[in-house]
Amino acid sequence: METDIKEKRCNRCQDNKPLGEFYRNKAQKTDGHSAGCKLCLRQYQTQWREDNPDKAKEHLKAWGKSSKEWLSKNPEYMKEYYNKNSDRVKENVYQWRRDNPERFKEYSKEYMKKRRNGAAAGVYGLFFDGVLKYIGSSIQLEERAKQHLSGFAKSKHFNIALQEEFDRSKLSREDVTFRVLVEFNKDKYESEESLIDVLRKEEEQQIKEHLESGIDLYNVRNTHGKDRLWK
Ligand SMILES: [Zn+2]
Repeated sequence: METDIKEKRCNRCQDNKPLGEFYRNKAQKTDGHSAGCKLCLRQYQTQWREDNPDKAKEHLKAWGKSSKEWLSKNPEYMKEYYNKNSDRVKENVYQWRRDNPERFKEYSKEYMKKRRNGAAAGVYGLFFDGVLKYIGSSIQLEERAKQHLSGFAKSKHFNIALQEEFDRSKLSREDVTFRVLVEFNKDKYESEESLIDVLRKEEEQQIKEHLESGIDLYNVRNTHGKDRLWK
């Protein structure tokens, strides 16, 4: 019986090989596997790519494009693939980093640069139920907002007194507002250091003004100790 075939002869190398050595191919009605064995087909493909470099490039491009399109229409596939293979995916990434330390360094630099360029800088306020509690500054406002919010939610905020009020008032993430008070244009500053310098000064000014108008803040930095007003 056809279904009992466990071995077949490759039409290229003429060797008898187990079915597992052949690619599955539904078009092959007899046994559902390709006529040539995997080894032969791979050799053939490699040879073809060497003989037709231009066509091979086009094929690769077309394949990349269509698989990209397919993946964008099937996002759950990537998610599922990653869930099933997360350890392997991570291991592959780590392996690549170990094998390509220089390229990885370049990559990270580029990545950080892109992130910095895309992010806004400024002085911000944290509000609990609309009441200002804390003033800070960052060269990556969006990132900083996330840090604060997830800090509170995980009960791991770096400002312990602020975390305590958050817990005491039984607040949730939605009760905390992160609002930009003064935004700065990064392009105007020659270096990150000079921008940070200006940010710190503006932060200090903002804290001073708010404390003077009688608003309690949970700030420690830039208040020179004596202005800490929290109970
Ligand atoms: Zn073969």
